Amino acid sequence: MSWLTNVVRPKLRELVGGSREVPDNLWKQCPNCSQMVFHRELHKNLRVCPHCDHHMRLSVAERLNMLFDGGVFERVDLPKKTADRLKFKDLRKYSERLRDARTKTGERDALVAAVGEIGGHRTVVVAMNFEFMGGSMGVAVGEGLLAAARKALEDQATLIVIPASGGARMQEGILSLMQMARTTIAVEEVREAGLPYIVVLTDPTTGGVSASFAMLGDIAIAEPGSVIGFAGARVIEQTIRESLPEGFQKAEYLLEHGMIDSVVHRHKLRDALIRIIGLLRRTRPPEAATAGDPMGAVPAGEPVAAEDSAPPPEEAAPPEQQPATPEQPAAR
Ligand SMILES: [Zn+2]
Repeated sequence: MSWLTNVVRPKLRELVGGSREVPDNLWKQCPNCSQMVFHRELHKNLRVCPHCDHHMRLSVAERLNMLFDGGVFERVDLPKKTADRLKFKDLRKYSERLRDARTKTGERDALVAAVGEIGGHRTVVVAMNFEFMGGSMGVAVGEGLLAAARKALEDQATLIVIPASGGARMQEGILSLMQMARTTIAVEEVREAGLPYIVVLTDPTTGGVSASFAMLGDIAIAEPGSVIGFAGARVIEQTIRESLPEGFQKAEYLLEHGMIDSVVHRHKLRDALIRIIGLLRRTRPPEAATAGDPMGAVPAGEPVAAEDSAPPPEEAAPPEQQPATPEQPAAR
């Protein structure tokens, strides 16, 4: 009996239990096609499913590594702000939720900023971390974006923002909503300085984040299949009592309706960004810069400099925000 209990049973348990744990550690099931993908293969493929091309969420570290030249970058120091003025408590205290999120992610808040070179161009990249309380925007995120924008100004660098957020952080009440205005001003400063501001919308970009800096890029790129919108589709359906069209709030749908400039596969994202930054940062020929009529001075078909490309997005920005306005009462 002792031989059975001491030796055979643990061995059996090891066999049965072991085989159950292996898929969790080594394999990941694609949420789109349900195929099992080997973790290492998924990592190599930048978390794009090799079977159906579904773009899974990417961690902030992986994101920064894939974008910067040689994966080399420096983290931008962000102000250590926390606003729990309300001493908010739902099922748990906000301070506890924050502490847990910090332990889980190893980050102070839902936004990370880094500076380095992309295609040889000095660039500040701001990436949001959906793992950190749904990437929600509170005071720390607002402050972080301001700091990153100032770093871009200081270094005369391009600013790339990669949102992944459920919207405002409700635990911070109105302070979180105020970040919408602050972040808008932050990116406006970058634009006024004639520096490119590019947004790469990832899954998901919703709520207060989509209603502020995420929709204000000079160029708005999205990853395939990303959900981008203000209020959730279910809330809209309940409000207007109509079923929504197929693919509503998906990147491809937004592209068809002129809300974004392009949908770029993750494998081609870095190259696309290098090309765009190259075009936007191209210095104007000296005779064009001094000419009285800048429009006439730039030859037709010649990519325009950042100063020339800044005004169109300003014209384009208000219509992009319009769809958000009718749903505002329904959103948090
Ligand atoms: Zn798949």
